Amino acid sequence: MKPLIGVLGRLATIDSGAFNGLERVNLTNAYVNAIEKAGGVPIVIPANTNKENIKAQVSAMDGIIISGGDDVNPNIYKEEPFKELGYVNPTLDAFDIEAIKVALELDKPIFGICRGLQMLNVALGGSLYQDLKYIKGSHIKHNQETKTYLGTHSIDIKENSILKDIIKGKVLVNSYHHQSIKTLGNNLRVIAYSNDGVIEAVQKEDKKFVVAVQWHPELMVDSCEYMLNLFKAFVDACN
Ligand code: MN
Repeated sequence: MKPLIGVLGRLATIDSGAFNGLERVNLTNAYVNAIEKAGGVPIVIPANTNKENIKAQVSAMDGIIISGGDDVNPNIYKEEPFKELGYVNPTLDAFDIEAIKVALELDKPIFGICRGLQMLNVALGGSLYQDLKYIKGSHIKHNQETKTYLGTHSIDIKENSILKDIIKGKVLVNSYHHQSIKTLGNNLRVIAYSNDGVIEAVQKEDKKFVVAVQWHPELMVDSCEYMLNLFKAFVDACN
């Protein structure tokens, strides 16, 4: 049996028609494509805050993907909101934190993507820069304006890391974020930086595969072998 990969769903608000104002389950289909291509079975878990249900949902999976999405509420790491903070949704934050907690307890592999990296860090007690302007010397464009599958900035991958085993050569990653990790969560190690010192990937040292990246590899699997291999490594860990 191929592993079941649960992707944490997001919410969007319908802005016209009969259902105007209602929320719907939302996720870019690229996650489905990437999981299928890597040999897993994609399952979307709808955002919710019922702890008993989240436990049942995560228990039924062989691994979970914390997907991209809105900004993280800075109240979680005990900061006031700064002017640059974007839209936050406490429901999504509570959902992600509970799903991460359950997955860690049950020793399920976790793959965090973009907001997923930020949520993993915050769930483990870390904090974020609410905007990259607060990082001294950050000058690289982390909100690219080109095709989504194109890598635009390089990353420096650390030796003896899960990422180094997968990405052996030079690689460019795509970039769609204005926040990043400030202080690291419990047992996380930085395994990749961009050239301006922004944390681009972490792994949890006491787990087999708890990895998170600040870019969007799911958008690159059709054009970049390394990104497909990253998904394959995650799906393999879920077997
Ligand atoms: Mn970036």
